[in-house]
Amino acid sequence: MKNNSSNRLSFLYSLLILFFMLLLLFVCSEVVDKTQKTWGVIVIAMSCFLVSFFVLRYFVFSFVYDRIKLIYKTINKRKTSKYSHSIKFDYNSDLVNQVQDDVNRWVEERELEIERMIEMNKYRKEFVGNVSHELKSPIFNVQGYTLSLLEGGLEDETINKRYLKKIEKNINRMINIVNDLDSISKLESGQLELRLESLELVEICEDVLDSLEDVYNAKNISVEIIKHFEKKIFIKADKEYLNQIIINLLINAIHYNDEKGNIKIELFEMDTNVLIEVTDDGIGISEEDLPRVFERFYRADKSRSLNSGGSGLGLAIVKHIIEAHGQTVNVRSTLGVGTTVAFTMAKV
Ligand code: ATP
Ligand code: MG
Repeated sequence: MKNNSSNRLSFLYSLLILFFMLLLLFVCSEVVDKTQKTWGVIVIAMSCFLVSFFVLRYFVFSFVYDRIKLIYKTINKRKTSKYSHSIKFDYNSDLVNQVQDDVNRWVEERELEIERMIEMNKYRKEFVGNVSHELKSPIFNVQGYTLSLLEGGLEDETINKRYLKKIEKNINRMINIVNDLDSISKLESGQLELRLESLELVEICEDVLDSLEDVYNAKNISVEIIKHFEKKIFIKADKEYLNQIIINLLINAIHYNDEKGNIKIELFEMDTNVLIEVTDDGIGISEEDLPRVFERFYRADKSRSLNSGGSGLGLAIVKHIIEAHGQTVNVRSTLGVGTTVAFTMAKV
C-alpha cells in the first residue's frame, strides 16, 4: 500500500515507453528502406530515445520530489518550530502518501486542540462570569453599609453596631467564596494532593459535629450519628478534605432545613468500603434540579440560596474530593420531605 502511487507511476511509464517503441518500430518498418544500415540507424535512434526518456524521467522526478520535500520540510518546521535537517527521504517510498498522511494527522491534531481551546475559553468565560456575579452582592452590601456609616450612621447608636456586623458577615461570605474558588480551581486542574492517613470514622464525624454545634443549635436542629456496626472502623482518607466533605453536607442539611429539623449521619460497613449518608428532613430538591446539584455554581432556588449565602460550589467541591479518593457520591431527595447525600470511603 505504501508504494502504491510510485508503482502506478512506474507502470504508466513502462506502458508509455512500450507504446512509443512500438510506434517507432511501426513507422520505421513502413517508411524506411529495410537495409542493414537503416536498421542500425533505427536501433541507435531507439537507444537514444530510451536514454533521453530515462534522463528526462529522472529530472522530472527529482524536480517534483524536491518540491514535495520542500513542502514536507516546511510542514515539519511549522509543526516543531525548528528546521529539521534530520528528515530522511526515501525516493523509493511513497512520499506523496507520506506527506498526505502527515498533513492529515497534523490537521486532526490541530482541530482537536482548537476544540479544546474553544471549550476552555467557554469554561473560563462562564467561570469569570459566575465569580463576578457571586462577588457582586457582598461587595455592594459592604459598600452600602460603609457609606451609610460614613454619612453619619457611625454616630447613630441604633445602627452602627448592626451595620458593622453586616459588613463583617458580607466579608466572611466573600472569604468563603474565595476559599471555595481556590479549592475548586485546584480540584478541577488536578492539583489536589491527598495526604491519605488512617482515620477512625466515628471520631471524625463527632469532631465535625462539635465544630458546627453553634450553627445547628442556632436553628434548634438535632443531629445524630447512627452507626450500623459495633467495632471501630478505620478509613483511608485525607483528614482535611474529609472534614470539608462532611462540613459541606451538614451545612447544606442545616441551611436547607426548617427550624427544629432533624439530621442523621448514618454509617454502614461494606466489603471494602464504608457508606456515609447525611439525611435531613428539610425542603428537599425537585426531580428536575436533582441531577444538576453537583455542577459548580448550580443552585436549585437562586433567590433562597442567595439569602442563605450559598454560591453553588459546596457540592461540586464534595464530588471532586470524593472522586479524587476514587470513591462515589450520589443524592436522593423528595421535595418537601428531605434529602440524603451518600458517599463511600475506602476501609484501611
Ligand atoms: P455553597 O457553595 O455555599 O455550598 P450552595 O449550598 O448553594 O452554596 P451546593 O452546596 O453546591 O451550593 O448545593 C447546590 C444546591 O443544591 C443548593 O443551592 C440547593 O439548592 C441544593 N441543595 C443542596 N443540598 C441540599 C439539601 N440538603 N436540601 C435541599 N437542597 C439542597
Ligand atoms: Mg452548600
